[in-house]
Amino acid sequence: MSQIVVVGGGFAAVWSAAAAARRRAEAGRREDEIAITVIAPSPEMVIRPRLYEENPSSMTVLLDDVLSPIGVRRAQGTVRAVDPDRHLVVVEVDGDTTEMSYDRLVLATGSRLVPPPSVPGADLMHDVDTRDAAADLERHLDNRHLSDGPGRFRAVVVGSGFVGLEVATELVDRLGRRAAAVGARDELWVWLVERADVVAPELGEGPRDQVLAGLAGAGVDLVLGSTVASMNAQQVTLADGRELSAETVVWTGGMRAHGPIESLAGDRDVLGRLEVDARMFVVGVPDLLAAGDVASVEVAPGRLAPQSCQYAHQHGKHAGHNAVADLLGLPLLDFNGDPYVTVVDLGSAGAVYTEGFDRQVRAVGKSAKDVKRMVNTQLIYPPTKDADVILTAADHLSESRPVKPVPVEGP
Ligand SMILES: Cc1cc2nc3c(=O)[nH]c(=O)nc-3n(C[C@H](O)[C@H](O)[C@H](O)COP(=O)(O)OP(=O)(O)OC[C@H]3O[C@@H](n4cnc5c(N)ncnc54)[C@H](O)[C@@H]3O)c2cc1C
Repeated sequence: MSQIVVVGGGFAAVWSAAAAARRRAEAGRREDEIAITVIAPSPEMVIRPRLYEENPSSMTVLLDDVLSPIGVRRAQGTVRAVDPDRHLVVVEVDGDTTEMSYDRLVLATGSRLVPPPSVPGADLMHDVDTRDAAADLERHLDNRHLSDGPGRFRAVVVGSGFVGLEVATELVDRLGRRAAAVGARDELWVWLVERADVVAPELGEGPRDQVLAGLAGAGVDLVLGSTVASMNAQQVTLADGRELSAETVVWTGGMRAHGPIESLAGDRDVLGRLEVDARMFVVGVPDLLAAGDVASVEVAPGRLAPQSCQYAHQHGKHAGHNAVADLLGLPLLDFNGDPYVTVVDLGSAGAVYTEGFDRQVRAVGKSAKDVKRMVNTQLIYPPTKDADVILTAADHLSESRPVKPVPVEGP
């Protein structure tokens, strides 16, 4: 029996496994001829793009609800190393290690938040990178009414990338509701601190005016050209010397590739991602594919795919398909993704929907917010329980960008 092993439990892994199961079925092969196994630390897939929202603990899908109906096995554990020469992975389970062999391996171990700078008090910073961290922030917000400090309903969000924008604007509502519940709505304040001289530098100029209008509309106080120099439980001191009374600080300093990639040969890009070829195979490592935030994929001449949910879906579908096709000596797919889109949530000010790598604004305000809501509550969730529906959605040509273009519209 041949073994396809997929490492990870996020979007890229789930869609790799589903696409592999689809290709296996198309080739008329049975589960006892080609076994497909997902190795992930948790039985749940975390819907990571929603972790800035209220109630982050609920943002999960049971992996078995997606994998079992389509004949994909699940092994619980964390892969600590890949040995490409022996074609095996080293898996840690409850402190013990075992080995699992593979014929084709898809690495889809995602990314992790870049740690905050080691300034005094940095350990007090919150983040929304993992479900546990987001749940910890939620508990912290829930307890603010127990404090009597001037900063109990004031927050500083550090970094104005798309995660920082979403956290800051959503915090206005999340902290605001808690403040209002104890009659302290007037204590609410949220600062968004950005080191660069412009907001959201990674988003470029395309949506900048709309982002600035959205921050102002949501009531976020933007501080440019500064960062956190130190903090304690009550106060943040910025690099420019300003002191802000705030009991909540959220770090959103970007993401880097994560997982057992150190043990592998091959080049890395600036985000630590493994270089893959057009067919999602890791360059220089036989029989290893990579997908999602851990993979560096050229999607247009000289343009690497951003770490994003959209590309994690699309990479996964191509990688899973090609893992089985390669095993069986069938034709391989070249990566061919849908046009890139972004939808940034701006809390009560709506959202900004853009298309293309230069992020041309196509919708703002309420119509963009409707798109964001649809993306967050429907589009990014894999179908569950029904094998036909799951396998149909696993086709690499199935629609994985959020929506058809919607007209530009004011807030
Ligand atoms: C708050 C927030 C908001 C975001 N908003 C957006 C957005 O609006 N739009 C967008 O496109 N993207 C957004 N993103 C980014 C998006 O979440 C990621 O690009 C996407 O999750 C990548 O999917 P992935 O499957 O590659 O990795 P991940 O979702 O990170 O999943 C990785 C999986 O691998 C598992 N894993 C890790 N290490 C190992 C190991 N050693 N062994 C086994 N399993 C392992 C993890 O447990 C996890 O299940 C956001 C991210 C955050 C944190």
